[in-house]
Amino acid sequence: MTHYVCKGGCGGVLEEIGICETEGCSNQYEMMEECDCTDGKHGMEESSSDLVVKDSNGAVLKDGDDVVLIKDLTLRGSSKTFKRGTKASGIKLTDNDEEIDCKLEGSAIVLRVEFVKKV
Ligand SMILES: [Zn+2]
Ligand SMILES: [Zn+2]
Repeated sequence: MTHYVCKGGCGGVLEEIGICETEGCSNQYEMMEECDCTDGKHGMEESSSDLVVKDSNGAVLKDGDDVVLIKDLTLRGSSKTFKRGTKASGIKLTDNDEEIDCKLEGSAIVLRVEFVKKV
C-alpha cells in the first residue's frame, strides 16, 4: 500500500501525503515522499548508519577509529598471534554490531568488539 515517508531521519510515516512535523528533523515542514515498499524499510536501509557498535568498555566505535587488542588473539586458521596491545588503525564497521573490519600488522581481519578498546 502506498504511504509517505520522511527521508530527513525522523523515520516518520504517513498514510496520506503531508509534511514532516517532527521537531528537529532535517526535513521538518517538507513534503514526505511517496513510498510503496512492503517491507516497512522504505528503501532507507543504510548499512551501518544506525548501528551502534561498542568496544569492550562500552565506548562507541566509528569508521576510522583506532583500537588496541585487550588480549592475545590467534588468527583462526593460522598460527599467527596478535599480542595484547597491538593497534589496529582505521577500523571499519560492519553490519554486525559485534564485529569490526580492521588491519592488524598489515592483515585485513575481522575482530570481535569485545576484544578491543578504543584509543
Ligand atoms: Zn522528518
Ligand atoms: Zn515504505
